Amino acid sequence: MENNKKHAVIIGSGFGGVGLAAMLAKAGYSVDVYEKNESLGGRASVFDAEGFHFDMGPSWYLMPDVFERFFSLLGEKVEDHLDLVKLSPSYRVFFKDKQRVVDLYSDITRDAATFESMEPGAGKALEEYLRQAKKKYEIGVGRFVYKNYDHFRDFLTREFLFEGRRLSVFTSMHRYVGKFFKNPDVQKMLQHTLLFLGNSPYNAPALYSMLSHVDLGQGVFYPLGGIGKVIEAIVHIGKKHGARFHCSAAVEKIETKNGKVCGIRLASGEFVGADIVISNADLFHTNMHLLSKGDREHDDTYWEKKVMAPSAFLLYLGTNKKFPSVTHHNLVFSKDWKENFKDIFDVPVLPRDPSFYVCAPSVTDSRVAPEGKENLFVLVPIASGLTLSKEELDAYEQKILSTMETEMGMEGLCSSITYRRRFAVDDFAERYHSYRGSGLGLSHTIMQTAIFRPNTYSKRVKDLYFVGGDTNPGIGMPMCLVSAQLVYKRLIGDKTDHPLTSL
Ligand SMILES: Cc1cc2nc3c(=O)[nH]c(=O)nc-3n(C[C@H](O)[C@H](O)[C@H](O)COP(=O)(O)OP(=O)(O)OC[C@H]3O[C@@H](n4cnc5c(N)ncnc54)[C@H](O)[C@@H]3O)c2cc1C
Repeated sequence: MENNKKHAVIIGSGFGGVGLAAMLAKAGYSVDVYEKNESLGGRASVFDAEGFHFDMGPSWYLMPDVFERFFSLLGEKVEDHLDLVKLSPSYRVFFKDKQRVVDLYSDITRDAATFESMEPGAGKALEEYLRQAKKKYEIGVGRFVYKNYDHFRDFLTREFLFEGRRLSVFTSMHRYVGKFFKNPDVQKMLQHTLLFLGNSPYNAPALYSMLSHVDLGQGVFYPLGGIGKVIEAIVHIGKKHGARFHCSAAVEKIETKNGKVCGIRLASGEFVGADIVISNADLFHTNMHLLSKGDREHDDTYWEKKVMAPSAFLLYLGTNKKFPSVTHHNLVFSKDWKENFKDIFDVPVLPRDPSFYVCAPSVTDSRVAPEGKENLFVLVPIASGLTLSKEELDAYEQKILSTMETEMGMEGLCSSITYRRRFAVDDFAERYHSYRGSGLGLSHTIMQTAIFRPNTYSKRVKDLYFVGGDTNPGIGMPMCLVSAQLVYKRLIGDKTDHPLTSL
């Protein structure tokens, strides 16, 4: 600990944790980050095996404006740290039963022509849809995302009630998309992004149609070397300003005295004193496992009522050949869309006709796989809280691989796999202390958004804060970086709704 500096201890090294560490270190705090796992990055950590380099979680670098703003706050430029490539196509969609394969380019002329070929009039409708999505994004990000909510009056402002209608807060995403497009395949292409937020188009407010501005308007990017490079860059900047990062250092308890935080206790038994503590660990774990009963804001019943985002069935695969039928990002859409979402959110069972995602970063990046080989990351959204036997997981793995062979033109996939690792519900719970093994944490239902989402500070314990996907504004790498800025705003008493411009 350095003289006179306030000591900040951060629990967890996800995007929110490392982002805040870099900010606080630059702002003059003495910062220590304690991470239970062997490496930094949380859900965005990486691993290497047999010549392949895998990102464990996120693979879509979206909302480049949010990253640029964050780096500039640290006095840095994204391009000095990351080799960003704009993907073209942005992604490929495979509709099951070989009805269609569609490439989307985040280029309105090309994408409108594709939509038009699928539904007469859909090209023009896409232009209008994206115009409205852009407007929503500008209002949402410009006025609502960078704001801390303390009282209902901060949320239910006249401005919100006025903008709320324009933002389509009160309509479901499914109904909203149906107003523009009739063809079910076209509808799917605008609804799938809801899964990025751990939600279903049947529950989510149409506010989130702004995500189409994100993927089809702004475009999809990739940092060469993988998403782990983003964590590396932020950690590098944090270290430059003096932040210290400790891996394999699980925190067992947040220590308090007279209603104020005073430090943390590591699993090793060591006590580390702190002026402020910020937990980046999932909130259920923070509340129910790291805090004493009297310091908790909520009990079990609160968590039981929470809607968790889906978990995921993940495969990390290395193959001994390339697959020309895939591009960097690939989506396979189920035939019965509604049933698929039911299997994830309502029943819940392993989806019988699953939609899923396959990332092949080796299509773009020779650094992530040996020459002539493919690095494949497969993500099937499944319900959180599912208990699955090894036999069920084995059978599901086979089902997904066979579907990839038949639906994605990946003949010979199964026999080409030389490396494989599987990750599912229990692994999320164990590796990230994730409640019910959710992949993303708290879902973005309307009742878990803004004022209704857990806040960035503790109402019980002074100088205890929360950062990351379970707090405001929510899920995704860019939002976790915004959440770091929300905590910082609290520390300096900034109640504005616009992004910070300096520290
Ligand atoms: C499979 C998958 C795919 C995704 N794809 C995308 C994508 O393409 N684009 C995108 O933007 N987002 C994506 N996301 C979401 C995004 O990865 C997350 O929202 C974000 O990375 C979460 O960051 P966080 O700050 O909440 O911290 P987390 O990543 O949740 O990290 C929290 C850290 O706290 C640590 N921790 C927990 N308990 C303790 C303890 N007691 N002591 C010490 N450490 C502890 C955990 O080990 C973990 O490292 C994806 C997520 C997953 C899982």
